[in-house]
Amino acid sequence: MPLYREQGVVLRTHKLGEADRIVTMLSRDRGLLRGVAKGVRRTSSKFGARLEPFMVADVQCFEGRSLDTITQAETLGAYGPAISADYDRYRAGSVIVETAERLAEGDPSRPLYELLVGALRTLAAARIPPELVRDGYLLRALSIAGWTPGFVDCVRCGAAGPHTAVVVQLGGVVCEDCRTPGSPRLDPGSILLLGALLSGNWDDALQASERERGQAAGIAAAYTQWHLERGLRSFRAPRR
Ligand SMILES: [Zn+2]
Repeated sequence: MPLYREQGVVLRTHKLGEADRIVTMLSRDRGLLRGVAKGVRRTSSKFGARLEPFMVADVQCFEGRSLDTITQAETLGAYGPAISADYDRYRAGSVIVETAERLAEGDPSRPLYELLVGALRTLAAARIPPELVRDGYLLRALSIAGWTPGFVDCVRCGAAGPHTAVVVQLGGVVCEDCRTPGSPRLDPGSILLLGALLSGNWDDALQASERERGQAAGIAAAYTQWHLERGLRSFRAPRR
């Protein structure tokens, strides 16, 4: 059986038998990787702790017929405990890894992998509100996947902005002529926030009000759902 090493982010795990766990990772160069980690649930296993959700690890695996077996894991980014310790961070992290898994159904993408690692690192550091980290990740991940939204000029006819009406199906803001009935109109600050999140400008993003964050979050979620075609479970998690 061929042996290989990979770096990856643990997206989720589930139980297998009495003591084992199946670990789903987004790897740097192989896309999604599903491996069995044996014996990790038997005791307070250090090996198991390195393979909890949101951890970044360097793993050694044996290729199997249906599932690979993870034989070693070294921690590269210990983001799991800090993210799981706080409910809002955990919810934001869950949306991020679920989206990463959906987007990974295509070819392996180093930029998507690096964006995910960066988002989890930022989330674990707890300096940026979790919702902003989540929404920034969503807009930038969709952008890398080929669906870059536009928040300045009209995305339909190119009329110079700023505009405040958003049509998620068209991918961003539209002018008054292109506006479709029922499309939401946002506060100007919310449009600026969406642009700041898309470009990764935390200094500007942190200036936004609670109301602007809420409006931007609604657009980021709707835009993600539109492109992934089905609702992500984590978006519907009730607020505590
Ligand atoms: Zn237009």
